[in-house]
Amino acid sequence: EFQALVLREAGEGKVESRVETVSDAALPEGDVTVAVEHSTLNYKDGMVLQGLGRLVRRYPHVPGVDFAGTVERSDTPRFKPGDKVILTGWRVGELHWGGYAQRAQVKADWLVPLPDGLTTEQAMIVGTAGFTAMLAVMALERHGLRPGDGEVLVTGAAGGVGSVATALLHRLGHRVVASTGRPAEHGYLTDLGAASIIDRAVLATSSARPLDSERWAGAIDAVGGTTLATLLTQLRHRASVAAVGNAGGIELKATVLPFLLRGVNLLGIDSVLSPREEREEAWHRIARELPLAKLAAMTRRARLADLPALGQQILQGGVRGRIVVDVNA
Ligand code: NAP
Repeated sequence: EFQALVLREAGEGKVESRVETVSDAALPEGDVTVAVEHSTLNYKDGMVLQGLGRLVRRYPHVPGVDFAGTVERSDTPRFKPGDKVILTGWRVGELHWGGYAQRAQVKADWLVPLPDGLTTEQAMIVGTAGFTAMLAVMALERHGLRPGDGEVLVTGAAGGVGSVATALLHRLGHRVVASTGRPAEHGYLTDLGAASIIDRAVLATSSARPLDSERWAGAIDAVGGTTLATLLTQLRHRASVAAVGNAGGIELKATVLPFLLRGVNLLGIDSVLSPREEREEAWHRIARELPLAKLAAMTRRARLADLPALGQQILQGGVRGRIVVDVNA
């Protein structure tokens, strides 16, 4: 048996969660069993912990979109006991039991070997949020972004995706402009590598014109809504924005003119079903190119029992950067 944060229905569409002892027989089917060491908290975990978005269909449920740990048992030759592995996405923690537990059972296809030079704790400091930031950078590069091109905008910058995107773009030699609604986090963002900061409200105001002055050589947007619509009008000729999130809304009210007259690109980023080759490339680049020590110093540590409260906090935009969960603490 093992300890897990178990989410149960509490009537009237509400859910409640607490740490419980769970028997191994209750684990879902899967060809690999993993002794989980670390997990993390993403925006989507916040939604699951509050029972929002119909993400979970069956209770009792073990949340946790991401985990990293050591293989205990494997029915496939791809993994053997003792191998260190990472899991992000694949709707684990939503449709399938996730990483808020000391043990998980999953499909081998969902697992990525932990790259050399990375610990399980570091992998979860990165988590889905950081993995997604890396996918966004890779997409911008494929569409031509190079260091020295000019200012690259990151929105929702003090959040998980935004913090890793800021640190990564800076490390790769880009001039990063961070957009945040939290003046108290300006110092944090500068320390991560932001060259300058703009207030969230500036981009959240609708652009009066279909084309504004050209400013951004690229952008990573975690906010969506009016913010994304506005920044589309400010992209430079042939520049791209990677659309990553919807923390500010799911609507997009835009015109086609930036696409027709400036040839800009709107790049969709989906981390959940990212294919294995792309996943492995992204994790190798994370191990080599992310300033991990800097991120680790800015990461908050938590235990399973802390997660219900932290889940509420992340939905209110109140979590700074990344949180790593030690499931054995
Ligand atoms: P997070 O840590 O909560 O970061 C979100 C940030 O967005 C907040 O820190 C805040 O940044 C900003 N924000 C929050 N509410 C806002 C509002 N009403 N208007 C404008 N800005 C607001 O969450 P995360 O885990 O980084 O995820 C960020 C987004 O990406 C979420 O929408 C998530 O669902 C999405 N996501 C998508 C993928 C994918 O595969 N496409 C993967 C991971 C995450 P400031 O305080 O700095 O303003």
